[in-house]
Amino acid sequence: MFANRRFAFLLFLLAGLTAAGIFRDSPLAHDAGGDEAPPAAPTLDQLASGRLPVVDLGWPLNDTSPYWPAENYLPFRLTTIATLEKNGVLSKAFYCPEHLGTHLDAPNHFEKNQPAVDQIDPAQLFARGVKIDVTMQADADADYRLTRADIDEWEKSHGRIPDGVVVLLETGWSRHWNNYPRYKNQDTTGKLHFPGYSAEAAKFLVVERKAKGLGIDTLSIDHGPSKDFVVHHIVNGAGRYGLENLARLDKLPAKGFFLVAAPIKIETGSGGPARVFAIVPGPAGRN
Ligand SMILES: [Zn+2]
Repeated sequence: MFANRRFAFLLFLLAGLTAAGIFRDSPLAHDAGGDEAPPAAPTLDQLASGRLPVVDLGWPLNDTSPYWPAENYLPFRLTTIATLEKNGVLSKAFYCPEHLGTHLDAPNHFEKNQPAVDQIDPAQLFARGVKIDVTMQADADADYRLTRADIDEWEKSHGRIPDGVVVLLETGWSRHWNNYPRYKNQDTTGKLHFPGYSAEAAKFLVVERKAKGLGIDTLSIDHGPSKDFVVHHIVNGAGRYGLENLARLDKLPAKGFFLVAAPIKIETGSGGPARVFAIVPGPAGRN
């Protein structure tokens, strides 16, 4: 029921976008590049009938899933309440910190007077996406932070980042997901080491490009060593959200995809586990 209603809403939203001509005039329609005629605009029927590639950007949750290594944060736990054999029905219960696994950081996570996860306007959870790949830089420096120069470079190759997208930062870190010690990469002093956004880059994306949210394939949009969580403050202070521990960003093109982020609706929550999907129309999706 819940999933159906959400899906119905997605269809409604996409219908609106299509009716408004946003798909037709979007970079989506022009991604083929070169002299080829632009591909036909994606339709809701294509989405509903499975003809548009959808990439699942979430990790499955289990008791070995990486979690934020601080006091009072605990691993995911699943217990069985009833079984088909004993009770004729399978039913389970789970325990999960809000910020575990693939999840959304609500604007109230780091800033006062900002929406909780249940108060985020649903329209904010549907967006065009762009992906910036800093895998090479992060391979050379685990503490790497996305720079303004990286963004300029991206825009030189792919055009201006449209207003109101969700920006995803691919660092290559997801290859460590199944190895929690490697994923958090904590040194002997307790400091974490993994890549993230710089304050300058985050401010530019949120203010100059009006990004609805910033996502990443690590534990945090701030890089590991951060103590002040300045990127979280910038993003949440502007009323925007973060998406963390994303999977399969390597399956996405640099632009031309749509994102759906559906966090659990915890009243007053500071975030929560989320299903995150990328719809990838056009040639980039057919690989
Ligand atoms: Zn978080």
